[in-house]
Amino acid sequence: MKLSISAAFVLLCPLTVVADPPASARILDAVLHHVRNGSDREWSEFADTPQSSSYQLNFEAKANDSDTALRIVQHDVKQLWKIELNGTNLGRLYRDENAIVGFWPIPKSTLIDGQNTLHVSTTSKTSDDIRIGEVAIYARQETDVLSECRVTVVVQDESTHQPTPCRITILHDGRLMALGARSNDHMAVRPGVIYCKGTADFGLPAGSYEIIAGRGPEYSIDARLLTVTAGKPQTLQLSIKREVPTIGFAACDTHVHTLTHSGHGDSTVRERMLTLAGEGIEFPIATDHNVHINYEELARELGVRDFFTPVIGNEVTTKIGHFNVFPVASADVPIPNHKADNWKDIFASIYATADVKVAILNHPRDIHSNYRPFGPEHHLAATATNLDGWDLTANAMAIVNSGAQQTDMMQLVHDWMSQLNAGRRLTPVGCSDSHDVARHFVGQARTYIRCDDADVGKIDVDSAVNNFLAGRVTIGCGLFADIRVNGTTGPGDTVEKSKQYHVDVDVRGPSWMKADEIEIFVNGHSVRTFELQPAGRSKPGVKAMFEMQLPISASQDAFVVAVARGPGVRKLHWPIAKPYQPTSTDWTPTFMAVTGAVWIDADGDGKVTSAKQYATEICTAARYSSGRVFERLKDFDAAVAVHVAELLMTDSPDTFVSGVLRGSRKSSPVVRAAFENFYESWQQSQRARAGASVATGL
Ligand SMILES: [Zn+2]
Ligand SMILES: [Zn+2]
Repeated sequence: MKLSISAAFVLLCPLTVVADPPASARILDAVLHHVRNGSDREWSEFADTPQSSSYQLNFEAKANDSDTALRIVQHDVKQLWKIELNGTNLGRLYRDENAIVGFWPIPKSTLIDGQNTLHVSTTSKTSDDIRIGEVAIYARQETDVLSECRVTVVVQDESTHQPTPCRITILHDGRLMALGARSNDHMAVRPGVIYCKGTADFGLPAGSYEIIAGRGPEYSIDARLLTVTAGKPQTLQLSIKREVPTIGFAACDTHVHTLTHSGHGDSTVRERMLTLAGEGIEFPIATDHNVHINYEELARELGVRDFFTPVIGNEVTTKIGHFNVFPVASADVPIPNHKADNWKDIFASIYATADVKVAILNHPRDIHSNYRPFGPEHHLAATATNLDGWDLTANAMAIVNSGAQQTDMMQLVHDWMSQLNAGRRLTPVGCSDSHDVARHFVGQARTYIRCDDADVGKIDVDSAVNNFLAGRVTIGCGLFADIRVNGTTGPGDTVEKSKQYHVDVDVRGPSWMKADEIEIFVNGHSVRTFELQPAGRSKPGVKAMFEMQLPISASQDAFVVAVARGPGVRKLHWPIAKPYQPTSTDWTPTFMAVTGAVWIDADGDGKVTSAKQYATEICTAARYSSGRVFERLKDFDAAVAVHVAELLMTDSPDTFVSGVLRGSRKSSPVVRAAFENFYESWQQSQRARAGASVATGL
């Protein structure tokens, strides 16, 4: 099915000339069309049936005896779409789901006298719902059209009155506008986006634009409407200020790539320096695939070294998972073995790498090389058990990856809390996995590490790494949340036995971001959700504070986590990305913050005991008799019960379904639900393993 915007359309308005876009533009198609290459719907926000499977536009024109330009507006492009004019390849649409007003050169003699055909199509087998149209051609070359007016934007920090690193977004009708500028040592430029140190200089076609300056989620934004006319240079002063206090926390992105060293994406390592400073990342970890990169020298050369303390790391990219490791002693030390076929050898090699202390399990629910670490065929979700018998000796786990978002943003939060219940002290991580300048930009999700951040250019790497390993972090994708138990104890630290446990949580964000609710979890189970008052939702800085007495039993240790949520920003000055490997055609854009875990030694034995350890003690003491186990479980919560269920199943698979599961139904509602939960998760894994062995012929 091809869409042919008929010649009749062209005949009706053969030489439409409009003022905006500029006077030299000839509009060939004034509207957007829904195009999809495959039969499956990609997103439910698009119509069930597309207008066509590729975009074709026939129009009358005269041959061009010099280079001219083509404008196309594109929305939601994920796959590779190529642009052909009369069979000549003009390039590709931007692989970017954000809406873009793009320009492409038309080489001379590509247009012909009479009927011309523009065709935009993809050979991808994956369905891609896109919107495309608002096509125009120009009599002048692309660089001339985009340089009609010179614009200089200066962005100041309101408190210092000095230019500040920032991101400048340039929108036309709410879409990212192609710019007359190229990246250099002062600016990283993409359509509609410039990262710079405070001053940006670029061209625009005559017209009206919205210019927005910002610097990540801790700063305000300043937005202005600007109308520019040909040949009249304009200067615009914008100012931003810090709105979100994060004193005592360094903003870390543990997952940063470049095109230069990873070979894909679009950000060169030089552009990366400007994007890190522009998003306010103070502790970036360089993690290109299987290579050690040091930003130090380049950060100095480009004059941004004072804005962050760079750390050498590596994304150890294997066929059985990706692991981000840091700090690496120098860029010259040998890289860890990424070819091993088991985790034991991979982790041994990681920890044998000079100075490396941190190993993060990345994107556990994404498929790479046909392997998904937390896929049900390998992983029993309810108890965080690896079904291949592999030991997860990582000490951290990515739970928000802004470049590879999940359909259900809470799933990895639950996976992480399951790991804590299983006794693995994993630090939660927010990161960007950014390979790009603007598409999936750096630092949207980040990990705030508790440390001295008075001088962000001189962060003490050892103490930051040690605090990271201790779990003294709070992670954010947009929002920020802090948590305290009994007044002063924060994430990573332990509260001693006490008569009661009081939790205080605050949720923070800039004025341009909203928070709706905050949810408190004890041992992975939700104990309360607070809604923010409408007045506080858009407040800059601390939006709301909550407190409650925690329901903690004296017989069992616990951990407490707070999660804040709000609507994801869709506006293109800081847009949240759509899910990377979606599990649904529906999508609810969400910003969130997740605190590290605060530990409570409620049983007062001087150490923190995990749910799995309690479960083992209960089963051993009861000699695996389910009747006695149910009796003992009265003093424990669902986190312990689910591990007891697994132990009983492992002890005697035959009697579990026939007897034990039935017995649990006569027990307390908590035990009953935990046993059902375990059994459901176990069945899901069994089915997946049976399916996997059929597929691989094992
Ligand atoms: Zn990866
Ligand atoms: Zn990566």
